[in-house]
Amino acid sequence: MSFQVFGIAVSRGVAIGRAVLVASSRVDVAHYFVAPGEVQAEIDRLLRARDAVVQELVTLKEELPEDAPHELAALLDVHLMLLHDEAFTGGASHWIVERHYNAEWALSAQLEVLARQFDEMEDDYLRERKADLEQLVERVLGALAQEQGDTPTPVTPRDFAGEDPLLLVAADIAPADMIQFKRSVFRGFITDIGGKTSHTAIVARSMDIPAVVGTREASRLIMQDDWVIIDGDAGTVIVNPSPIVLEEYRFRQRQSELERARLGRLRHTPAVTLDGEHIELHANIEMPADAEAAVEAGATGVGLFRSEFLFMNRDGELPSEDEQFAAYKAAVVAMKGMPVTIRTVDVGADKPLDRLTVNELRHEHVLNPAMGLRAIRWSLAEPSMFRQQLRAIFRASAFGKVRLLIPMVAHLSEVRQILDAVRKVQQQLTDAGHAYTRVELGVMIEIPAAAVMLPLLLRHVDFVSIGTNDLIQYTLAIDRADEAVAHLYDPWHPAVLQLISQSIAQARAAGKSVSVCGEMAGDPVFTELLLAMGLRSFSMHPSQIPAVKQRVLRADSQRLAVALPRILDSEDPQAAADKELAPVRSGSIAVH
Ligand code: PEP
Ligand code: MG
Repeated sequence: MSFQVFGIAVSRGVAIGRAVLVASSRVDVAHYFVAPGEVQAEIDRLLRARDAVVQELVTLKEELPEDAPHELAALLDVHLMLLHDEAFTGGASHWIVERHYNAEWALSAQLEVLARQFDEMEDDYLRERKADLEQLVERVLGALAQEQGDTPTPVTPRDFAGEDPLLLVAADIAPADMIQFKRSVFRGFITDIGGKTSHTAIVARSMDIPAVVGTREASRLIMQDDWVIIDGDAGTVIVNPSPIVLEEYRFRQRQSELERARLGRLRHTPAVTLDGEHIELHANIEMPADAEAAVEAGATGVGLFRSEFLFMNRDGELPSEDEQFAAYKAAVVAMKGMPVTIRTVDVGADKPLDRLTVNELRHEHVLNPAMGLRAIRWSLAEPSMFRQQLRAIFRASAFGKVRLLIPMVAHLSEVRQILDAVRKVQQQLTDAGHAYTRVELGVMIEIPAAAVMLPLLLRHVDFVSIGTNDLIQYTLAIDRADEAVAHLYDPWHPAVLQLISQSIAQARAAGKSVSVCGEMAGDPVFTELLLAMGLRSFSMHPSQIPAVKQRVLRADSQRLAVALPRILDSEDPQAAADKELAPVRSGSIAVH
């Protein structure tokens, strides 16, 4: 049966493929393909792990004390029965044979299929057996990890016949897990939870593959292996489409690929407006390896290196100074002399260090994580960790142009503490004989208080970067990760526009450089407006650079600036911008 699910569009384009349902708790299971010649060996690996668990349970049962409750032995029998059920290993083997999934992935795929069947059972007792099944899968996954046999070599789908693209469907994915998918087999994402600028959505966008979040129930309605279309522009998901609909979307997919290829040719064109203003188009990156994509896309620097992703998925152990230094240096070297803006760690809110999803966070006992100990507050609460990060950043400055950016600043006392830490660190490095060069210091404008008191902050820093994602969240009191209030998360809100416009004007008046590194910078819908406000430095996901550059090339910044007051005065700035800015755009630029 064909049906649609509606959500929030986070990443553009169309993806067509088969659904892979993954339980939120199991997104960290390895997902890769095995070569045709290794299919049987992979099934054997699975069966060996299953047998090891059988053996474990048999021993457990034999060793049950005489007086153990009768239910315990009965439960072990149920588990043993499930393990021998054809639907369990037989079903998992099916995914290995048909789709070439590795054993761990095949097992979790089959768990999703069986869990649905249990959910639909009328009988309470049987329905509750789902928990037993989940426990068993955990045990077999554990046994697979212990398995002594050879693990298969991952291959790409091109190495075997099955080339259907795979689209991941999950209730929720933690940013820490999403980052693992950066170079994965999935060509699109659908989640039940999340808002447009939640960090899971941001990482999905950085992968430049279609994604829809906040669907509320996609993971319940879509079945394993269903054919699915993700319309990343409209925020819709079409499940089991008819051949006509499928054809229409295949056409759109080809169109959007052609458009990308066309825009890609702007890579080496300098971003200069019609009236000769040079615009910096920098990249936002999460990992040093992303710097390559930034250079590829024509970025002239890194405007935001979200260093917190280096701190995630480490079971509580933080990266050492040398490890961080190696990562920062790698990004700096990859950018070949272009500036790299490294933001100090911004954990907390929807970016916990461990792999907690937003849903799990909601059930944690942190009352209001977005307003709690996050970003610079966390760094200042952990001074030795903070200094360690600063040392690593300063050491990287010996290899290129490094800028230091501090997230979530709201108090002058924080700036003073930061400056103090910087001085200490410089002294330590000098004493230890480490080379470093001048590093500009900048703060992010993400809290309305920082925007309102900007002239005071500007006395102490070299530059500012406006984080519109958080600035919107805190100005409008809308949790950016909460799909329930996503309709109120409005970049066009007059208060938001006033704060951004004032911040840009004040920084410029003070002769300090100012950029926008929130998602607004990479959305071509806002390019003219930000130019009209006087912005000359944008930072965005590398994949967004060509589309924004095209808008820059067609813009006349002086004429745009004249229209700005009418937009800021309007009760409906979006409509006013449509009216005031559209005619100012000049004709199209031919791309050769
Ligand atoms: C922002 O808040 O706009 C920003 C760029 O930082 P992050 O999205 O990582 O919170
Ligand atoms: Mg932020």
